Amino acid sequence: MTDTADVIVIGAGVQGASLAFHLASRGASVVILERSVIGAGATGRSSGLVRVYYDLLAEARLAWIAQAWFREWDERVGGECGFTRTGFLWIEPRDHIERVRANSASHRAMGVDSTMIEADEIRRLAPGLEIGDEVAAWEPESGYADPSMTASGFLAAAKAKGARLVQNAEVTAVRTGGGRVTGVETSRGAVSAPVVVNAAGGWAGHVAKLAGLDLPLSVWRHDTGYLGVPEEVARPIPVVIDIVHGMYFRPEGADMVLVGLEDDNQIGGSPDRDTADAAPSFRDRAAERIVRRVPGLVDGTFRSSHSGQDGLSPDQRPMLGPAGPDGFYLDCGHSGTGFKTAPAVGLGMAELILDGTSATVDLSPFAFDRFAEGRLLVGEHGDQHAWR
Ligand SMILES: Cc1cc2nc3c(=O)[nH]c(=O)nc-3n(C[C@H](O)[C@H](O)[C@H](O)COP(=O)(O)OP(=O)(O)OC[C@H]3O[C@@H](n4cnc5c(N)ncnc54)[C@H](O)[C@@H]3O)c2cc1C
Repeated sequence: MTDTADVIVIGAGVQGASLAFHLASRGASVVILERSVIGAGATGRSSGLVRVYYDLLAEARLAWIAQAWFREWDERVGGECGFTRTGFLWIEPRDHIERVRANSASHRAMGVDSTMIEADEIRRLAPGLEIGDEVAAWEPESGYADPSMTASGFLAAAKAKGARLVQNAEVTAVRTGGGRVTGVETSRGAVSAPVVVNAAGGWAGHVAKLAGLDLPLSVWRHDTGYLGVPEEVARPIPVVIDIVHGMYFRPEGADMVLVGLEDDNQIGGSPDRDTADAAPSFRDRAAERIVRRVPGLVDGTFRSSHSGQDGLSPDQRPMLGPAGPDGFYLDCGHSGTGFKTAPAVGLGMAELILDGTSATVDLSPFAFDRFAEGRLLVGEHGDQHAWR
């Protein structure tokens, strides 16, 4: 076991991997400690949606900065992250038209190719969908990527720049002295460093306690499944978030879709629960829901389903930056949406740690003190929480 570093990153999910890459790219010596293996938490279960549409502009900006990394992965990181550009539809009922128009306009002002479209155009872009009088935001550049490949790719590039990854090493204590962190103890020995980052996903509440810090973080559990798509269903099928029916879906290759539901996600409980399969009722509920939007899937059959877990914060937005003893940082609370933002969050966190401020990516809205100060983040145009 290596015994010293500039920065210890706890957790080899996509967030820890991205941070390790950006730190190593800046010349910092980094050790990533992972209790299991790469992508063992939320990352390995993630649906991988890569889109910009958020009603909180600070979050959309993170997603937009990150998207360039997915699109230009080979030049920026090297290798493959599985990014597939399918286009993305955010579908809302017609009485939300002003909200969709306003969000889409603010994303366009940032440089995103985003337009508000109406029913005829939605039908033209996605002919397999049953559309009444809904409206949508359309992002032709968005799509999905492979979360496991993304995390492994970041870590391979980080290691090529000198970072060290230790798997099967559970952090069991955070050491402090004189009010600041000095390192950690793990199941495989101790590591010293003046900076320790908690990127432990659903376990981040437990890891924070090791540093004497209480996080307002719940464990959020989310089921997804893959459904076979019969040949008769009209293609293309883009990535869709369907606010009307409270679900999302995306293609997986040519003959499957991945579906997830926004409601009935378990909130609370232990992150150590088994996630091998979805809840017994999930397949029926998801099939009934998706058939309303894609009627041709009435003949589709589930190939598999599984569950995953992430850390959920009170405003369903991440906690990023210093908290607790000096040198202790949070990169957690990603609340079921932290895959697409990881390349940008890692960049901003590396700047915050090494330069004292995040210049390229403004992470200040996500500071931890917002919870104590009652400044919970809300979208500019009257959003609602994604997960129910
Ligand atoms: C089913 C599902 C679907 C999702 N779909 C999307 C999506 O489409 N788009 C999107 O943007 N986001 C999505 N998300 C959210 C996204 O996947 C997560 O926000 C993101 O993967 C979080 O990454 P992470 O690195 O913070 O956490 P994780 O991937 O959970 O990694 C944390 C790591 O820390 C390790 N760890 C924990 N405790 C310790 C310890 N004491 N010592 C050492 N290591 C430790 C764990 O083993 C784990 O590997 C989804 C999440 C789920 C569960």
